[in-house]
Amino acid sequence: MRQISVAVPVPFLDLLTYNVPDGIALPPVGGRVRVPVGTRVLTGCVIEYPDGTSAGEFKDVIEALDHDPLLPPDIVALCRWVADYYLAGVGDAIAAAMPPGARRKATSFKTKRVAAITALGLGATWTPDPISLTPKQREALEVLSASSTGLALSELRDRGISADVIGRLAVRGLVQVRAEASERDPFEGAVMTNVQASPTRELTSEQTQAFEQLAALADIGDFRVALLHGVTGSGKTEVYLRLAERARRAGRQTLLMVPEIALTPSVTALFRATFGDRVAIQHSGLSDGERHDQWHRIRRGDVDVVVGTRSAVFTPLTRVGVIVVDEEHDTSYKQEEAPRYHGRDVAIVRGRGEKALVVLGSATPSMESYQHALSGKYTRATLERRVLDRPLASVRLVNMREEYADQGPDIVISRTLVAAIEDRLQRSEQVIVLLNRRGYATAVFCRQCGDAFECPNCTISLTVHTARQGWKARCHYCNYSMTVPKQCRKCAAPYLEQAGFGTEKVEQHLRERFPDARIGRVDRDSVRRKGALASILSRFAAGELDLLVGTQMIAKGHDFPRVTLVGVISADVGLGVADFRAGERTFQLLTQVAGRAGRGEQVGEAVVQTLYPEHYSIQLSCQQDYAAFFDRELAYRRGMRYPPTVALVNVVVRGRSFDEAMRTATDVTHRLKQSTVAGSFIILGPAPAPLVRLRGEHRVQFFLKGSRRVDMRNALKAMLAEMPEVRRKITIDIDPLNVL
Ligand code: ADP
Ligand code: ZN
Repeated sequence: MRQISVAVPVPFLDLLTYNVPDGIALPPVGGRVRVPVGTRVLTGCVIEYPDGTSAGEFKDVIEALDHDPLLPPDIVALCRWVADYYLAGVGDAIAAAMPPGARRKATSFKTKRVAAITALGLGATWTPDPISLTPKQREALEVLSASSTGLALSELRDRGISADVIGRLAVRGLVQVRAEASERDPFEGAVMTNVQASPTRELTSEQTQAFEQLAALADIGDFRVALLHGVTGSGKTEVYLRLAERARRAGRQTLLMVPEIALTPSVTALFRATFGDRVAIQHSGLSDGERHDQWHRIRRGDVDVVVGTRSAVFTPLTRVGVIVVDEEHDTSYKQEEAPRYHGRDVAIVRGRGEKALVVLGSATPSMESYQHALSGKYTRATLERRVLDRPLASVRLVNMREEYADQGPDIVISRTLVAAIEDRLQRSEQVIVLLNRRGYATAVFCRQCGDAFECPNCTISLTVHTARQGWKARCHYCNYSMTVPKQCRKCAAPYLEQAGFGTEKVEQHLRERFPDARIGRVDRDSVRRKGALASILSRFAAGELDLLVGTQMIAKGHDFPRVTLVGVISADVGLGVADFRAGERTFQLLTQVAGRAGRGEQVGEAVVQTLYPEHYSIQLSCQQDYAAFFDRELAYRRGMRYPPTVALVNVVVRGRSFDEAMRTATDVTHRLKQSTVAGSFIILGPAPAPLVRLRGEHRVQFFLKGSRRVDMRNALKAMLAEMPEVRRKITIDIDPLNVL
């Protein structure tokens, strides 16, 4: 009997075995099949041919959809690795690698309808009046007779000829309408900013050195990992580009991963300018149709370069020679839902499987990557200077405790920062102002009874947003929203007070203080509409805005040469969070945002407001001293036994009540402690999670810490096998970035 193992898109389900009946050709690994699962019929993916013929009672495959594998074998193998390492279902991992629409039977290309003139119609335009035609119909025939291949109905409509007119001509056999596949171009209408033709540009000596070092590694044609540690503005992108060109000449492809496409339009544009339509892009901001078309171009081998976000790590290239993970420290590489993979780490595994060079690029490498570079596991290439010897921005710290003492507690923008902004505006230079907290106010409470507005579903206070009608209070976790009332809900006193502030309030203060400045705001609220972010950024790039205020979104990767000042409103926002990575995050954010200033001819400056000017993350980011920060932070991690000195797993157990969650968590940890490998790791907890209630569920948390990840994974697997009923109640996060 012929049998196949199939991954189906059902959470927690392992591989299922099916018989392939005689009438159906054996489907390939990576091909899709329609199979019965319970009472449903689902589209699954063939993962392997099981060993030996087990005589079990298996159901039959209903239909095989692909003669050739839809997913290349290397990608199937990568998905299996992801499922195993992150303890996710294979179906979840496969779903992450599939193009949109793959669960439907046939993959669909967008079609356009094209009208072309027929011989009959051609005759009709020649002979003056054999049949009666309206002027519009006659015009349509004339337009069409000038085109040998026909014209799309949309083009005809642009010329004032409706589909209706064409339809009437088609009925009479004068015109033929056919459907034609048309590829959607995701670059269409995109604004390309600040792109210089690059091949003519000479690399600086530092760039040349780094490039040659990396190219030599790529030429080996085997798996290697390199860390390209280059300060902000040192020209890392140019090095990636040359590597991609080199790979192309060797007949190999390049995968360039970036944190978020909209935030790095210049990277995409530069590659597009060099590789033309041999570049494809893959990210979640594309419509399903665009993503689908791009995916199939890649699968056909029609591209040399793919630029994409996290999920592009599964892109179906088959000749990958170079994988670049730009801004490798960025947290958006981690997927916070199943499968909870880290795009950078999966990229490294992919590089190993496909014998590729993996380049991790950053000005502020993650602790993990830098440690591997120091230990010699990764090759290190460095760019210590900005291109053209532009100096790094100088940083001034403003102690906000002194500012509050002098100016009162309501001050948002310090005198130093106001003066600095004024100065730049007068010189027609641009300014970026960062506050990594969105909304208007961070809390509302009653001054009489102290009642604070908490989310009814989550243990978190509601954030106040300005809305067209009054104030809205919203939960940033579950999106619960309410209108802020005039009176306290508990004691009816009219003394509601708002506390804390976010980007909306900073924007308001800036507008009041600088009424003539053209100000834009970038945060998740202001860029909700598709294309809104790209639009604000391109207006800023074009000089139509003077000042950009926003969250960490404006700190990443941008290259705006006219920005000479960066203001940071509360540098310590992230330090108050109960997360062992808070210091690292703060250092990265401040270094990156300061790196946005002074990238053009003029020298840049950063003004950083803080309540803790003596904190080492803030001090060392001002000095832009990565090495000193790393040493200091590593000592702390070592002392506390945190990653990267140990491996960590975060397990969150959910329940309808706190007690229920705690009971389950206790059962689970009890079972884990009985594991035969339990000696190599410790369990911390269970304890209430920092967000003890989230979206209406109660949450209890525990950690596994140890130096042998494989033991922790095996213990968890054994536990899940013995207690399958807890699968639905627990979230296992291997190498977590977010421990709340
Ligand atoms: P990074 O990613 O390292 O922060 P970018 O790659 O964005 O830096 O480069 C910074 C700026 O320097 C960009 O405007 C880029 O066009 C420019 N640049 C890069 N390499 C060169 C070079 N060799 N000569 C002149 N300008 C360069
Ligand atoms: Zn909520």
